Amino acid sequence: MNGNGSTTDVSKAGADTAGADTAGADKAGTTRINATRHLRARLRRELPRDVFIHRPHRFLYWIPMMALIATATAVLATVDLPPFAAIMISLALGGVYGSLFFFGHEVGHGSIVKSRILQDLVLYSSLGIYCTSPHLWRIWHNQVHHAYTNHEVSDPDTWGTLDSYRAFPAARIGFKLSPGSGNWASVLYLFTWFTVHAQHVLWSKSRRAPGFGRLSRRRAAIDSLLWASFWLLLGTSLGPYRALLCVIIPMLVANAIIMSYISTNHMMSPMVEGDDVLDSSMSVTSWRIVDAIHFHFSHHVEHHLFPSMGSDQSPHIRRLLERIAGHRYLAPAHWRALLMLYRTPRVYVEPRVLYDPVRDTRVSTDRVATALQRKGSSLPGKGQSAARLHTGHCKTNAVVSARTATSILGKPDV
Ligand SMILES: [Zn+2]
Repeated sequence: MNGNGSTTDVSKAGADTAGADTAGADKAGTTRINATRHLRARLRRELPRDVFIHRPHRFLYWIPMMALIATATAVLATVDLPPFAAIMISLALGGVYGSLFFFGHEVGHGSIVKSRILQDLVLYSSLGIYCTSPHLWRIWHNQVHHAYTNHEVSDPDTWGTLDSYRAFPAARIGFKLSPGSGNWASVLYLFTWFTVHAQHVLWSKSRRAPGFGRLSRRRAAIDSLLWASFWLLLGTSLGPYRALLCVIIPMLVANAIIMSYISTNHMMSPMVEGDDVLDSSMSVTSWRIVDAIHFHFSHHVEHHLFPSMGSDQSPHIRRLLERIAGHRYLAPAHWRALLMLYRTPRVYVEPRVLYDPVRDTRVSTDRVATALQRKGSSLPGKGQSAARLHTGHCKTNAVVSARTATSILGKPDV
């Protein structure tokens, strides 16, 4: 990744300019640091202009996906297939719902069509399997998450701090499900969490985080209720076996596919106060065919830099980032990122330290990043997922990092 001399340029620029440039006061009245703006400006200068060209014909991808969903559902609902074949089609149906979500995410950002009606049509179809409202999604994801990525209070998508873990009973229940908690319930996380989290944002997080002023909780609740009623009616009319094939398995699979990306996007990155996408976000590397099917959702740093750019142009940004952003740009193999997710805790005890309040273990995000950067480096294994430290003793970041580094990674290979 560190291909040439310009690497340190932007690596440093990220930090240096962060101090020099402030984006002015945000809605909460906080002065925010904006390193992302500098990186974005530099990328814009170096990228060919045609990567930003609007290509509305990509809207046509929606048609085959909807056709596949309708056909697979109709076959599973009406044809007596051998169980193995039926389950395979059901799993594939869940896969198409996953792809449809990624397509809807892109359409929702306005990168394919500007028509609000067409956007809504796609968003309703892509979020329906999760019983999630497009109205909620637009505010939650487009306006709040993108503006406040990995901010302690403002980003509804973080697991929060130790203080919020102690303050909110829901956070303590949710923590048991979180990847890296070591609890058996965390097995359910990938298969359910988008659906669960959407309702958590609607009923709880949107009341506390800034940026949800325009949210009509009633409108979003009606959308969710309509979708839940639709699935319930469909399932009831089909009977248990066909409901499992047409509704339940696709719901679980779709959740697992999209959460396998969403969980790696920011949850192992530091909490930030300003806007520094290289610090707050992470990409993953998938096979090309998977990237094509999943609308390059693996290119997440790239997406945060240019949210309304066509996702198929993301590889151009990745090549540039690998050249100019050096070690600050993370894109480990998808499976390695997922393994690391399940081996590191989720609550922030400090902005750059993840903490497990049940097992009293912690690991610095810097060490996680170091481990993910090194191909073939050892990942923390069971029982050594983080340095075991007593909460009663205050440790500095440096001490925690050093102990953690030795504990989970061995000696660094410089
Ligand atoms: Zn987005």
